[in-house]
Amino acid sequence: MTNHDVKTYDHYVDGATFVGESDRFADVFDPAAGTPQSRVRLASAGDVDSAVTAAAAAFEVWGETSVTARARVMFAFRQLLVEHEDELAALISSEHGKTVADARGEVVRGREVVEFACGIPQLLKGDYSDQVSGGIDSHTFRQPLGVVAGITPFNFPIMVPLWMHPVAIATGNTFILKPSERVPGASDLVARLYTEAGLPDGVFNVVHGDKVAVDAILEHPGISAVSFVGSTPIAKYVHEGATRTGKRVQALGGAKNHAVVMPDADLDYAADHLVAAGYGSAGQRCMAISAVVAVGPAADALVDKIRERSIGLKVSVGTDPDAEMGPVVTAASRDRVIDYIGQGEDAGAKVVVDGRDLVVDGHENGFFVGPTLLDQVTTDMSVYTDEIFGPVLTVLRVPTLEAAIDLINANPYGNGTAVFTSSGEVARTFQRKVHVGMIGINVPVPVPMAFHSFGGWKDSLFGDHHIHGPEGVRFYTQAKVVTTRWPHVSEESLAQLNFPTAQ
Ligand code: NAD
Repeated sequence: MTNHDVKTYDHYVDGATFVGESDRFADVFDPAAGTPQSRVRLASAGDVDSAVTAAAAAFEVWGETSVTARARVMFAFRQLLVEHEDELAALISSEHGKTVADARGEVVRGREVVEFACGIPQLLKGDYSDQVSGGIDSHTFRQPLGVVAGITPFNFPIMVPLWMHPVAIATGNTFILKPSERVPGASDLVARLYTEAGLPDGVFNVVHGDKVAVDAILEHPGISAVSFVGSTPIAKYVHEGATRTGKRVQALGGAKNHAVVMPDADLDYAADHLVAAGYGSAGQRCMAISAVVAVGPAADALVDKIRERSIGLKVSVGTDPDAEMGPVVTAASRDRVIDYIGQGEDAGAKVVVDGRDLVVDGHENGFFVGPTLLDQVTTDMSVYTDEIFGPVLTVLRVPTLEAAIDLINANPYGNGTAVFTSSGEVARTFQRKVHVGMIGINVPVPVPMAFHSFGGWKDSLFGDHHIHGPEGVRFYTQAKVVTTRWPHVSEESLAQLNFPTAQ
């Protein structure tokens, strides 16, 4: 974009807009129109350093602020998210392309993490053991880490950052968010809402950018921990880079989520939910179902039912109240998805529903791909091995539940999975045997609520903490254990050179 009169998203540091030293920019597109709508400034390493300096100074005060005062800011911030729900949903839809109703869903699910963080006084209560030895007590408590950073993907512009910063801030840390450069708007508004909620300057900062900003975060000695959500190659890169510089790190990666459909399942119910889980948000969810594993005689009828429902979906611009699915995020994404469908066809998959030629009236240049259904897919095809991140459902056929579980366990990803069945025994076997972090029983997108933690296994998560919920509180804090004795003035000291044991 050459016209510099367009809206520019600058960084937000120390409670105010921050221009910094970098003059690099990226275009922010309207995916339904296929044209740029604004631009975002891309930070230099020096700009990241300015944010760390502000966050470190703010930590000196915020880390000492009472837990009740921190909770009160969260209550105020939560209320502002309610009041700005429409604005946030519209902003997200315009930059991402998802429908406004879908965007509203992520605002609500993200807000629930703030509601969890409002309970921080309860969540940070330590443990106390009376009389662990004669006259000696022991207690544990947890303290914040300092300046922590979050690096987030395009597909949930507000919810994924909200998985991180409310918990980090409520536990007493200060935060630097590096959102996806494709969807900067929601983070800019969130920063302003935090300030309006009474959060002191420098506690929450937004640094927009690309690899340069990410590398600066990974290298910066003033940052104690990094939370990352994005694709698997970058998750690995972030995990290795942050670990090398001694940081605590949780790096959530990509996915290939399977839904097993047993012959005893209600196939209408399964088809309804698979269409929603495969094509919602144009398949751009890390918990989207992309591989349907049909067991035995379930396959033919299931494929028919998914086909009927797929061809009836309304694909349109996200602001159309009747739209069920919008465009994908960029022209490159659209081209990649279309290319994968061709690769699947060439490899022998049957194209049951073909979304490649979809044109939306009035939005001919938009990044649209229609719902696509591929049957007779096998595990060696690229449409199965790779994360497509578009509205493509693939169907694989297996003879038994055991074969379905083996197929899932052989896949390198382990984010989410689901089984459709009417058998409790099948459900129990499935949930115990499958090597996946989040499991749905007749629930296709089993995203945990904010008071549980979210995380996959294998190549879907690097690090050992899941995100938000109780594991989030642990990730953003470190424990201290105190052993206390208050001897009487006249009491014998009991000092000994042998290793002390309880008396
Ligand atoms: P991405 O990996 O391209 O980008 C994520 C972040 O990393 C962005 O902030 C981006 O600026 C940064 N980045 C990109 N390339 C980089 C590089 N070479 N070096 C350093 N930083 C870089 O992911 P995306 O396309 O924005 O999001 C989609 C991906 O995220 C999918 O793979 C999806 O499965 C995954 N995702 C996972 C989860 C989860 O919970 N596991 C949730 C949402 C999305």
